[in-house]
Amino acid sequence: MGSYLDNDIKFLPGVGEKRAALLRKELGIGTMGDLLYYFPRRWIDRTRIYKIAEIDGQSPDYVQIRGRVEYCSMVGEGRKKRLVVHIEDGSGIAELVWFNGYRAMEKRIELGREYTVFGRTGFFNNELSMVHPEIETTEAAMNHPGNMQGVYSTTETLMTAHLGSKAIYRLVCTLWETASGSIVETLPESFMREQRLMPLVEALRNIHFPESEEHLRQAKHRLKFEELLGIQLGIVASRQGRLSRHDGFLFPRVGDRFRDFYEKNLPFELTGAQKRVVKEIRVDMVSGNQMNRLLQGDVGSGKTLVALLGMLLAADNGFQSCMMAPTEILARQHYATIKKMLGDLPVRVEVLTGSSRVRERRVIMNDLREGAIDILIGTHALLEDAVQFANLGLVVIDEQHRFGVEQRARLWTKNHRPPHVLVMTATPIPRTLAMTLYGDLDVSVIDELPPGRKPIETTHMYDSDRLRVFGFMRDQIAAGRQIYVVYPLIRESETKDYKDLEDGFLSITQQFPSPDYFVTVVHGKLKADVKQDNMMQFKDGLAHIMVATSVIEVGVDVPNASVMIIESAERFGLSQLHQLRGRVGRGAEQSHCILMSGNKLTAVARKRLSAMVRTNDGFELSELDLQLRGAGDISGTMQSGEPVALRIASPTRDTELVEHTRNVAIGILEADPELRNPYFKALKDRYFSQKDSDFSRIS
Ligand code: ADP
Ligand code: MG
Repeated sequence: MGSYLDNDIKFLPGVGEKRAALLRKELGIGTMGDLLYYFPRRWIDRTRIYKIAEIDGQSPDYVQIRGRVEYCSMVGEGRKKRLVVHIEDGSGIAELVWFNGYRAMEKRIELGREYTVFGRTGFFNNELSMVHPEIETTEAAMNHPGNMQGVYSTTETLMTAHLGSKAIYRLVCTLWETASGSIVETLPESFMREQRLMPLVEALRNIHFPESEEHLRQAKHRLKFEELLGIQLGIVASRQGRLSRHDGFLFPRVGDRFRDFYEKNLPFELTGAQKRVVKEIRVDMVSGNQMNRLLQGDVGSGKTLVALLGMLLAADNGFQSCMMAPTEILARQHYATIKKMLGDLPVRVEVLTGSSRVRERRVIMNDLREGAIDILIGTHALLEDAVQFANLGLVVIDEQHRFGVEQRARLWTKNHRPPHVLVMTATPIPRTLAMTLYGDLDVSVIDELPPGRKPIETTHMYDSDRLRVFGFMRDQIAAGRQIYVVYPLIRESETKDYKDLEDGFLSITQQFPSPDYFVTVVHGKLKADVKQDNMMQFKDGLAHIMVATSVIEVGVDVPNASVMIIESAERFGLSQLHQLRGRVGRGAEQSHCILMSGNKLTAVARKRLSAMVRTNDGFELSELDLQLRGAGDISGTMQSGEPVALRIASPTRDTELVEHTRNVAIGILEADPELRNPYFKALKDRYFSQKDSDFSRIS
């Protein structure tokens, strides 16, 4: 029954074992069908030529320029060896650079000849520069069929294996010749007519090889529609399932623990937004349905406290709760804060992490099973099978984007009835995104910071400003403040990243020598207890400076720390930058965030950094982040908050279509609750692969 499209991509002429392995690893393309659904990132309008002088940070990430080669030479030695070409177009000069494949390129390029160049814009010393652009003589460029040509995103690794955008385009051409006959329509005929959708074959052809701008528009619409409808069918069906089961635990009692805490222990007044969210949670808990709630609130908005009130409510009704945090540091910090806040209230709280001792662990497991523990805080360790609750009523997940899909799904298989779930995040999620990708969730928002917080001042500095930065740090320390210095840690290149951090630590200890200064360090390779000790040195105010990896990104709370220095800031994603910045600005003092970067920045990185300088508003940043990511960025930026991968629809740009397909999905399910229509059933299964819970879609 297998279709031609299910065949391994290695059988496509021009691919073979080696390139197939690369395509799979780099782009997730394993079959012919995967390649067919690997859509161009953008379409270049070959009629649009930019003047070099008009290109700046606001221009698109990729542009086409045309001019004469006035310089072409190899420069540098050894690993730094590269080909540099200057193109002049009457308005200015652009520099083109090749770090590999330069020999062949050097042979192709003739001085004085006119070329058409297409590539990613970058700036070096404020001059336009393009690395590894596509280049061809203007005569050749004029010969392209049609005006719209697909540009496929690729990676550095693929480019070195000669699988650049053009090569992928050629593979798609080959594929189309053999595969177009195997494409099976996925939507009912009448439905397509009703919704005015282009047939699938046409849509796929036009997405790769647009006949005209109008055909491309219709192709995109059809493919986005299908994708969003599949997801919405899944979300709406699972929501209806959850609401019809009516098996949520009931927490009707507001008992002594909740009340005493609220009246006696609460060190401050709740903000209006906190009160509202607590109310929303309380309504869920007496509704008879299982709660599935996403709580978003900017960094420092006081989510922990809201979660604690929910857990006390559970305890008052005889239920246990647990709170899972992404790191050991954070779990232990939550434990300490919550213990302290609860004081001598009769609530038993314990903490369980990977480094809990065997004996301690045994006691906890035992008491948990007997129902003697009310609140268990921990890391992934909570997911182990050995961790058994007597009656788990509420699960709180902090900083949800840090957890993997299966990890979360495992938490509520611990009960035969699903507990209430509260997922907390500081990464603001636009409403349509929540609606599209985050599944069957109700959303609560804390949109108000506790009173008295001063906005953080953010500056962007270059490596060459380092001496000034050191001076500023000295002044701040003299004024009694503490400072974070954070280095990026990106999985693939861990060793190098640790080296950067070690070098940085060394140079800071030289600049800030003991005994006058005390510099501590926290990163993932330290043993848990060392990490904990170092963290405490900072928290207790003994250490002036903490050098860290992005381990501290989430949740650390040290109000006296008022300076956040982010090294190689261009390598972080916007949401990480914003999270990191949120570590300061928690006390009464003016806080500062300094973004350090090299001089050479891509247009996207430049936009990210200037957005950080411009605004403290997490919501605005997250919108921009989505837009920039949509624009494509292959520079290895750290992005852990990536939601479910949509191939073509964009939850921020296609808001109307998101709402429309949701309504269509509701209509379909009303008429056909069991989803017997084979087309829609298949569509749902294809785009919505959830198993146990609606949360498995959250990434
Ligand atoms: P986040 O939402 O980032 O998890 P936290 O829960 O860590 O924020 O809270 C940040 C800080 O604000 C903590 O020190 C907490 O005690 C404090 N806080 C929380 N709610 C209030 C409030 N209503 N008034 C004053 N401070 C508050
Ligand atoms: Mg928090």
